[in-house]
Amino acid sequence: MTSEQRVVVIGGGLAGLRLAARLGPAAAVTVLGEESRAPYNRVLLAEVLAGRYAPDVAALPDPGPVLRRGVRAVRIDRAARRVHCDDGTAAEYDALVLATGSNPVLPPLRGLFPPGGGELPEGVHAFRTMDDCLALGAAVRPGVRAVVIGGGLLGVSAARALAARGAQVVLAQQAERLMERQLDADASALLHAHLASLGVEIHTECRVRGLATTGVPSRPSPAPPGAAHRRVVTGVELADGYRLGADLVVLACGVRPRTGLARAAGLEVRKGVVVDDRLRTGDPCVHAIGDCAEHAGRLYGLAGPALEQADALAATLGGSPTDYTGTRALTRLTLGGADRPLDLAAFGDPTPLPGDDVVRLADATRRTYRKVVLRGDRLVGGVLLGELSTVGALARTWEGDESLGAPHDMFHLLTDDGGH
Ligand SMILES: Cc1cc2nc3c(=O)[nH]c(=O)nc-3n(C[C@H](O)[C@H](O)[C@H](O)COP(=O)(O)OP(=O)(O)OC[C@H]3O[C@@H](n4cnc5c(N)ncnc54)[C@H](O)[C@@H]3O)c2cc1C
Repeated sequence: MTSEQRVVVIGGGLAGLRLAARLGPAAAVTVLGEESRAPYNRVLLAEVLAGRYAPDVAALPDPGPVLRRGVRAVRIDRAARRVHCDDGTAAEYDALVLATGSNPVLPPLRGLFPPGGGELPEGVHAFRTMDDCLALGAAVRPGVRAVVIGGGLLGVSAARALAARGAQVVLAQQAERLMERQLDADASALLHAHLASLGVEIHTECRVRGLATTGVPSRPSPAPPGAAHRRVVTGVELADGYRLGADLVVLACGVRPRTGLARAAGLEVRKGVVVDDRLRTGDPCVHAIGDCAEHAGRLYGLAGPALEQADALAATLGGSPTDYTGTRALTRLTLGGADRPLDLAAFGDPTPLPGDDVVRLADATRRTYRKVVLRGDRLVGGVLLGELSTVGALARTWEGDESLGAPHDMFHLLTDDGGH
């Protein structure tokens, strides 16, 4: 990149802002960010919702005028190398970077939208943005009935946070166990017990099929004659016909990469925007990083890979071509208040294939569980719950794809004292 080269980044989230920071103040960078509030790290939203952190603790360094807040990119004109925005302005680029993140998946629930489309009912929230988090925070009070739909990382975090605020929380998980993508059955069972001890009622193999809503007169109250009614959620309907009362519903059913702009611009999109090892799309002037990017068939949806991709692309655009070859990401989560916290770390595939070696250390009294799966002399997966003192060494071995040497070394990796 020469100093005259104009870089336009669409998306002022974790990946886009890291890229801008790495390119530095001398670069001609514009970040278009549709969110109008100051930049923040969404990884910390559950802690904000739980009341553990004030919103400003989640702030990301503000890049100043480089970030055009509250401006949404609406069309990419690749022939003219120009991005059109919703405020009528356009930004010309030499290099364009898509860092548009993902959208929450809205499940096909009866009653989610009124016939013909419209707004979500009052009381129903996604959990993706600071606005979602603050709206949920404003609605939660001790004793409020909250149903969280989805038992993955997001649903578990939201349920724990709402319980910490005194809500009566029911978590409805369609799969047979919690966080089934990251945890094996034993670790899931411990997590289940921990959440239950925090007062969360958990239903697994439980499909929600609809929402119950009621119409209440629009504000101001009393509403003028003929005023429209607001739809307010009153409960969720399960597939077996059972109905749970609810004042709040959180949709935590996964995320879908935001690829609309790329698709409309004729770029290749499979699950995400397809990029090569230089994080380039089929158009050499257009790149994609973070949650919206699909590299080597993989979507990550995690902060670590988003930051690594931003760093690799910054090096390339800065004149030091750098290949991105993938990230071996570790998922980490802390659940529970200061008195009863539960730490969790998971990586790779915790379910062994025939011929794999497994080392497992479980302590039912202390509610700790540690397990690693080894194929040949390499780690292929693992879970640590309740006891994370060895996570640093394990993470280094996993992330560096290092040889473990003798089986004893693997046991050593799981213990504080080398297994003595
Ligand atoms: C509640 C929650 C908890 C999480 N916890 C963890 C965790 O513990 N560990 C972990 O690794 N990951 C976690 N994640 C995931 C992590 O936050 C994401 O992987 C990461 O933020 C991805 O960064 P990104 O920049 O690709 O996307 P984002 O951070 O989503 O940023 C994308 C930005 O682009 C903007 N944008 C999109 N389209 C346009 C447009 N057309 N014009 C202008 N702006 C646009 C969006 O508004 C958004 O601000 C969590 C996510 C959530 C929601």
